[in-house]
Amino acid sequence: AHLDRIAAVDGELNAFLATDAEASLAAARGIDARRSAGDALGELAGVPLAVKDVLVTTDMPSTAGSRILEGYRSPYDATAVAKARAAGLVCLGKTNMDEFAMGSSTENSAYGPTRNQWAADRVPGGSGGGSAVAVGAFEAPLALGSDTGGSIRQPAALTGTVGAKPTYGGVSRYGAIALASSLDQIGPCARTVLDTALLHDVVAGHDRHDSTSLDFDWPSMAAAARDGADPGSLRGLRVGVVKQLMLDGVQPGVKARFEESLALLTAQGAEIVEIDAPHFEYAVAAYYLILPAEASSNLAKYDSVRFGLRVAPEGGGTVESVMSETRAAGFGVEAKRRIILGTYALSAGYYDAYYGSAQKVRTLIQRDFAAAFAQVDVIASPTTPTTAWRLGAHGGDPLQDYLNDATTIPANLAGIPGLSLPIGTASEDGLPVGLQLMAPAFEDARLYRAGAAVE
Ligand code: GLN
Repeated sequence: AHLDRIAAVDGELNAFLATDAEASLAAARGIDARRSAGDALGELAGVPLAVKDVLVTTDMPSTAGSRILEGYRSPYDATAVAKARAAGLVCLGKTNMDEFAMGSSTENSAYGPTRNQWAADRVPGGSGGGSAVAVGAFEAPLALGSDTGGSIRQPAALTGTVGAKPTYGGVSRYGAIALASSLDQIGPCARTVLDTALLHDVVAGHDRHDSTSLDFDWPSMAAAARDGADPGSLRGLRVGVVKQLMLDGVQPGVKARFEESLALLTAQGAEIVEIDAPHFEYAVAAYYLILPAEASSNLAKYDSVRFGLRVAPEGGGTVESVMSETRAAGFGVEAKRRIILGTYALSAGYYDAYYGSAQKVRTLIQRDFAAAFAQVDVIASPTTPTTAWRLGAHGGDPLQDYLNDATTIPANLAGIPGLSLPIGTASEDGLPVGLQLMAPAFEDARLYRAGAAVE
């Protein structure tokens, strides 16, 4: 049924970069055979899964939305994918994304933009627009994404779906094509809080292949979501609203829905507390130094020899000319911008002034969170300041995209978990609005409990 749905709608939406109907059906039949043979299968056995193209897979291409990885086949599956397959989920295909997860609209994909299933002239958010639209348009019930500065939560908000960024290290990054390693986190997307929690439970856990993977006994997120659905489940929960996240630029319809969701939290027993996070206003600036710095280093491996594309000048060329022609042809505008920015920020003489200062700001933001979580259990904000904008509306101006990340970036800088869930539509444009909930590190379950209570 999902393959039929993809065939019917994906020509317009472009949520998928690759599908393999035969392989998916064969995997589904394999699960059926195991079930008939009496194998004890998990709750999600046989459920189809869409996978963001940032996660490498053996059975399909893995491009990360870039020309430079066109035709690349991984010799292994990313751990999150391997865990999903082991739990019996059936991989349907790879989803579209901004090149190397750099972007907020999926317009930076080398394979054309994904369209928002609410309105084809609107962006779905990014970088994981493909995964969000795949679940939102009923092409898949579940999807995996990656969130470095909001790429799971922001597209969830703009498409009316649910997405979670786990605690940093909660889900293995092994086999996730790296953008900024100290910020990247793999996480689940779905249409309901409970479905998101079920997928979270499958992919979470320690992995010796990822040195930052946490060895922690995670409680069941699904159990937390089920608890949260009980009336009055939030009695005693203190919910913080950060003054600095109610930015001037917040669209009126977004603000109205957010205020309603605070009333819903209160109705379930929560108490709303206003809190202060004085350094959040510097989060975007710090992030857009730390991210390009790490990205420029991670992207150095696309050297025309080890992976994907290779462009040789006439006559063969030198090692240097093959490398530079390949990188010139293989990377898009945003990737090049960030490589140049990052290389500059890391260069001798500037390192302390840029990268060093940004890291100090990052520490101050972590302290703001620590002070806030001494007063409250959960922080709530709109996931994004606006609803989905029109394709092309930012006209290639990267700053407009960057500013849309102001609400999601702080969680990545601090490594804490965040969840976005739909809270209705904005009255001025009828487009979906997301509520973001954040909790201290390791307290992901709290988000599912609170999210399920107001869903
Ligand atoms: N929009 C942010 C950026 O462009 C987020 C990216 C992400 O989370 N992968 O960097």
